[in-house]
Amino acid sequence: MAHLLDAIDSLLAPWFQARGQGAYRLGQVRNWLFERRAAGFEAMTNLPRGLRCELARDFTPWSTEIARHAQAADGTEKLLLTMRDGGQVECVLLREDRSPRLSPAGRVGRRTICLSTQVGCGMGCVFCASGLDGLQRNLATGEIVEQMLRLQRLLGPDERLSHIVVMGMGEPLANLDALLPALAEASREDGLGISARRITVSTVGLPKAMRRLSETTPRYRLAVSLHAPNDELRRRIVPVSGTISLAEVLVEADHYFDVSGRRLTFEYVLLAGVNDSRQHAEQLADLLASRTALVNVIPYNPVAGLPYQTPGLAAQRTFRQTLEARGVAVKFRHRKGEAIDAACGQLCRRAQEEMRTQGRSPSRPNLG
Ligand code: SAH
Repeated sequence: MAHLLDAIDSLLAPWFQARGQGAYRLGQVRNWLFERRAAGFEAMTNLPRGLRCELARDFTPWSTEIARHAQAADGTEKLLLTMRDGGQVECVLLREDRSPRLSPAGRVGRRTICLSTQVGCGMGCVFCASGLDGLQRNLATGEIVEQMLRLQRLLGPDERLSHIVVMGMGEPLANLDALLPALAEASREDGLGISARRITVSTVGLPKAMRRLSETTPRYRLAVSLHAPNDELRRRIVPVSGTISLAEVLVEADHYFDVSGRRLTFEYVLLAGVNDSRQHAEQLADLLASRTALVNVIPYNPVAGLPYQTPGLAAQRTFRQTLEARGVAVKFRHRKGEAIDAACGQLCRRAQEEMRTQGRSPSRPNLG
């Protein structure tokens, strides 16, 4: 059965036409999926019953099963999804302000979702859980859109999705063919209606793909994972930089800034005793002080079995102050959903480990 979310328009438009149905039917289905959070075709009650049955026979909006649903006290929720071939990915809903009503500032708290783009990851960053077993495969467009819709359906009736970060499992820029149509659905008025400037794509820094993004769709915010202020150190913790220098990454980041006009974000995972010294901060400032950029420092979220540690608060403070003293804009990313393993790849990994100890194969979980 065709996965509707892979290509909603090009699957449905000819299908309705062949049945003598007006083009507005496609808009009705889109409205039910993105706006009214329908669970399936049966719920789409302004379509004739016969048509709904036929739709359900030929298409499905859902190609995954929810293997786990974890909730943290801070409002973070995380889904582990099992796909048709048994592969698993995770995706997360983050709530900024628990109250669904307006905050004193007159704004509704952010509702950010974090999406995966691949099963596993081929980049091999030494501190990250997602890449520990390498890359299994790219996700399809529909599997990415499905994460959005599944997370949206966790919201209360007064809550709306406001932001998307593509910071889950995988390297988004290694799967642009599937990602770009998915993000188009997110930003379309008759999709999720999330404006492109509220969508951030995070990359390890693949120059060719960054150039492709600059040339085709410089609409989204780009975050570049640096993690080190010099090539020698970066090669040790971000293995793809063996063949890609910091200079090459920065040229493409600057180019993206030029064509998009959107301030760049550079991510920097702070690893105790590895990249967190005052000298590292100085070097990072040398690299970035002349750029319109924000450094997003992420104190390491420990991964079971890996030898890295979170720096203490004093080291974190020194790192921040050193950058700020040089005029670099810095933000520390607060940890959310720690109790539910909300860092990339961690829930997935734990589920696989549990399955292993239960004697089941991790890539082909028993769905009962
Ligand atoms: N492949 C993309 C998206 C990865 S996830 C990229 O490299 O940017 C988003 C960010 O979280 C990346 O900067 C990644 O390096 C970082 N990250 C991965 N594991 C982490 C961990 N255990 N603790 C803190 N940050 C982590």
